[in-house]
Amino acid sequence: MTQAKQHAISINLNKCTGCVHCLTACPTQAIRIRDGKARVIDRQCIDCGECIRHCPRDAIESHTTSFSDLQRFAYKVAIPATALYGQFGNSVLPYEILYALRKIGFDHVYDLSAICELYIAAVEEYLTEHAQPRPVIASTCPVVVRLIQRRFPALSELIVPFEPPREIGAKILRSTLPAALKLKPEDIGIIHITPCPAKLVSINHPATMKKSFLDGAVSIRDIYPPILDILRKKDDTAIMRHLFPDSSMSGLGIGWSISGGETRSLPKFRTVAVSGVQDTIHVLDQVESGLLRDVDYLECMVCPDGCVGGPLSIENRFLAKSRILHLAKKAGDKSVIDRSEIRTMYRENFLSFQHPLEPQPSAPLDADPAEAIRKAGLRDEILQRLPGKDCGFCGAPYCATLADDIVRGLADIRDCPMTWKETP
Ligand code: SF4
Ligand code: SF4
Repeated sequence: MTQAKQHAISINLNKCTGCVHCLTACPTQAIRIRDGKARVIDRQCIDCGECIRHCPRDAIESHTTSFSDLQRFAYKVAIPATALYGQFGNSVLPYEILYALRKIGFDHVYDLSAICELYIAAVEEYLTEHAQPRPVIASTCPVVVRLIQRRFPALSELIVPFEPPREIGAKILRSTLPAALKLKPEDIGIIHITPCPAKLVSINHPATMKKSFLDGAVSIRDIYPPILDILRKKDDTAIMRHLFPDSSMSGLGIGWSISGGETRSLPKFRTVAVSGVQDTIHVLDQVESGLLRDVDYLECMVCPDGCVGGPLSIENRFLAKSRILHLAKKAGDKSVIDRSEIRTMYRENFLSFQHPLEPQPSAPLDADPAEAIRKAGLRDEILQRLPGKDCGFCGAPYCATLADDIVRGLADIRDCPMTWKETP
């Protein structure tokens, strides 16, 4: 039995033992233990995947697009995250991975590295044109975008108003493929290959456009075994090189899957790169306090070391990182994009959000401000009565979370066993 929900993760209640590992790992306090099982509070979950990493029972499942779902499309295109290039050991080159995707059943594959370079060139235009406010924050990690919407809503306006490279790549394909192939747009499936479940949520519930240009996201975990199978056969090397010449790949773009990949391309600006959910929260706290106003561009990736540390990756992230660095160096820093074309795209708003990012602050304690103040006082009183041990026995991660749940009518003080002596 699986707990049904609107996110890309869910708890398998048959496997969950209520051990509380996920409870303390969740950065947004979105998990409670009820009747001995973990439950996710939909509104608070940002699909970061921290719970997947910490569950010792493999009870947290991620939901991405299955390969069989793709059969409804007459023509299938794969747009893999560049993190995929770091998954297959030292001797495997990107063009071999792209070719393996073709062999698996994709009719067309699209390397994202040049689009990553395109994105950052557009960011450069944006930073030059907009001297304030600072810091401008990257829009690439969907978890960071949701974290900002919910926990740091006032920072929503600092996010650079460009769709991330995966959406830009899909938009370019959508505008060219139907005519070129003489197919209806709905017959063409454009699929991201993802290291994280959050991408599927950003496709199903886009934050800044009506409808995503992508049709789904297949997880690296799911697609890894068939790719490996093809790679082991090591056939057709000459064809692979011909189809995907190294010269069309951007070394700057390949490096995007590791923390600092974006900022490396902005040498003229003051930049900061952060990775990992706790460090990201810490730095966003500092941005909120006005401490980073002298920074032009802030790159935040919620996974440790960037997308190579995504929860749906297979390779140890340290090895994947070393592999990506090697590939980026091999491809070199030579630009593969046409700057004047980027300026035109920038001016014509081809990369821009369709509508502004909407802040989604957490619900107040009460709609009536006076009542909300009264409840905040009550919450403080309740917190004083709790032991302050943050033990998780009550099913909430912290005593403060339990106090908040009690005031909202979602829990009872008797949920804390340490108060049993004082409450009749
Ligand atoms: S995905 Fe992240 S936010 Fe959602 S429940 Fe898991 S740890 Fe919490
Ligand atoms: S850092 Fe990358 S892999 Fe991790 S959640 Fe963000 S976009 Fe996904």
